[in-house]
Amino acid sequence: MADKYQILKSVYGYDKFRPAQEELIDNILSGKDVLGVMPTGAGKSVCFQVPALLMTGITIVISPLISLMADQVNSLTQAGVRAAYLNSSLTLPQQRQVLSNIRRGMYKIIYVAPERLDTEGFASLAADINISMIAVDEAHCISQWGQDFRPSYMNIVSFADSLPYRPVISAFTATATQRVRDDISSILKLNDPFTVITGFDRSNLYFGVISDGDRYTSLKKLVDGYEGKSGIVYCSTRKNVEMIAEKLCSDGISAAAYHAGMPDELRSSTQDDFIYDRIQIIVATNAFGMGIDKSNVSFVIHYNMPKDMESYYQEAGRAGRDGSPAECTLLYSGQDYQLNKFLIEKSSEESDADETTKRILINRDMKRLGAMMDYCSGTGCLRKYILRYFGEHSDEFCGNCSFCISGSEKTDVTVDAQKILSCIARMNQRYGVKMVVDTLKGSHSEKLLSLGLDSLSTYGIMKDSSEDRIRIIINNLISNGHIRREGDEYPVLKLTAKAAAVLKGEEQLEINMPKAKKPARVKKSEAEEYNISPQLLSKLKSLRSELAAREKVPAYVIFSDVTIRDMCAKLPQSRNEMLDVSGIGSKKLEKYGDQFLKIITEHIKTTGGAVRITNSDRSAMEKPVHAIADKISAFVPSEEACSLTQLCDMLISITEMNIKTKPVRTIIGDWLVREEYLCESTDSKGHSFKDTTFKSESIGIIKISKVGKAGTPYTSVVYTPKAQKFIAENIADIAETE
Ligand code: ADP
Ligand code: ZN
Repeated sequence: MADKYQILKSVYGYDKFRPAQEELIDNILSGKDVLGVMPTGAGKSVCFQVPALLMTGITIVISPLISLMADQVNSLTQAGVRAAYLNSSLTLPQQRQVLSNIRRGMYKIIYVAPERLDTEGFASLAADINISMIAVDEAHCISQWGQDFRPSYMNIVSFADSLPYRPVISAFTATATQRVRDDISSILKLNDPFTVITGFDRSNLYFGVISDGDRYTSLKKLVDGYEGKSGIVYCSTRKNVEMIAEKLCSDGISAAAYHAGMPDELRSSTQDDFIYDRIQIIVATNAFGMGIDKSNVSFVIHYNMPKDMESYYQEAGRAGRDGSPAECTLLYSGQDYQLNKFLIEKSSEESDADETTKRILINRDMKRLGAMMDYCSGTGCLRKYILRYFGEHSDEFCGNCSFCISGSEKTDVTVDAQKILSCIARMNQRYGVKMVVDTLKGSHSEKLLSLGLDSLSTYGIMKDSSEDRIRIIINNLISNGHIRREGDEYPVLKLTAKAAAVLKGEEQLEINMPKAKKPARVKKSEAEEYNISPQLLSKLKSLRSELAAREKVPAYVIFSDVTIRDMCAKLPQSRNEMLDVSGIGSKKLEKYGDQFLKIITEHIKTTGGAVRITNSDRSAMEKPVHAIADKISAFVPSEEACSLTQLCDMLISITEMNIKTKPVRTIIGDWLVREEYLCESTDSKGHSFKDTTFKSESIGIIKISKVGKAGTPYTSVVYTPKAQKFIAENIADIAETE
């Protein structure tokens, strides 16, 4: 009998489980209930599908969305797994057919909507067949505290109770607070479930906020850089959706509108056009996306700020599901706040909740809106902000967001801070951030003028600063405790005792400010980005489209972009080599392998044996210090002391490979810190650097004094030949930390 590794390889074409997957699978196979809380793209499906194929009976997967079911069943069928779904999109005769097939034991996995569990036909069937597992996808739908409560999820409980014996129950979700997790466990009556909660970080996603300039111009610029890649543009209103879609089309871009006000038929054909790559961009309200499993969405742009971080992360998270790098950008403008506030108030007026409940909800929503605004004003790493918001710790800088990329610099903002604080004082500490900013900027808004705020001496004293800059300083004053927010619904700014010191000039305020000019991100084509042949890439992709059209499935169901790129990189030339490509299992090899091989072989012939990235090159890129360790016997220390960067370059040169210095320097530097030969420190300008410790000298790392160009003395940490030798001797250990 096959084991889990064989299934992973033959059905999915993958070599390794991700750690959480393997643990969950093992527990299911040992008969335990499980709960997996893992972000989108973490690979939840594998967690229940693999054991489903190894257990004796059938697995019933409960899934809330018809489109999701079709997608998953398509993928499984393509991979040679006997699977089917049962929902209202099938005609009655089709449903009867599926039911009778189930009875005859034709399937290992069936997907059903929760409503189905309650029907007579299904209940009687269930009593007759051997159900090994009930897998509950999107399990948060069972909790009233979750975002998308689905009362029909309650059917799962009575269904499980009605069975002659209790199958394993596994539950999966991407978003669950403690409260929702508890609900899932208790309502589903999970029996001492084995629980895995992996982090929420999606490291392949780049996060950006653009808050200056004309929005459409920014959008167009972004989209121009995404030539040929699929993406979603979210707008907050239907009117915007139509306007932007039209404008993109008239600018020659393949885009279509999608919102709940469109006729059903048009909506679903537009959705299909997008999924099947017939249009490049879908411009949509948040009505679009639930149940979209399209794995090759390369960018999500928010034309408007959403109402809260929960919505933002969910919508942005539709990018990069296949693990490829993808970008999420939010185009922010001050009006977004007003619009969202209006929407929150409107929905409260329209709700039939009692007054107290309404109050509570408005409070909650306004608070969430405030947090969303803080994200947009970008006072620090955006990823850090997101992860903290969802209760996770993170590094100070991620290196993959607009803040980290543009870089920040310590800036003395004492004078600006004084202006802000005195403005708040003069406004009698009765207003929120928006009014304070407007007053400082000298806005002519009706509200401001009618309150007479234009007569204050601080009116317009920061008119030359950007709104962003003012907000960043205010946020820092809040986090440093000079100002506090008071009140829930419409929080006003109050000065604290700490403010006095700044106002009197007794305390200087230095903060991290994003550098004024953000360097343009260099956009590369897919082929350039992965260093593969553009011709081959496009040939393989057109073959994939042809096959997809013939089989009537989306292209990514045939092979994901990751798989196609891996073919271009590995250039397999036999069926066996084809199996080394990530995402190709035996069934898919049998079905499509030869056709793809043919194109690859032709390509190699015509390009006269194209450069083939060997496995050792690849592993050198992924694990540069390992590559150095392999060649370390060739290393000769220099006679002079050198910097860590120079030492890394010397080490890299012995590999004769194209390895970047920075990652190597980071790994070696971090190892030295861990072993206490160095320690993290900050210089007088606030730049962090690695300083010597009491242990440094023993291995030959020393600090020497130098004099800079302007005659200013400074110290520098250098690596004597002894230190170079020491690092070379320990390189295998260092490589282990990679
Ligand atoms: P989720 O349901 O958690 O959002 P999916 O099940 O859709 O995630 O998986 C996301 C992507 O990751 C899919 O393209 C899937 O094939 C891929 N994947 C899953 N497990 C692995 C693995 N062990 N190795 C490589 N890729 C994997
Ligand atoms: Zn960052």
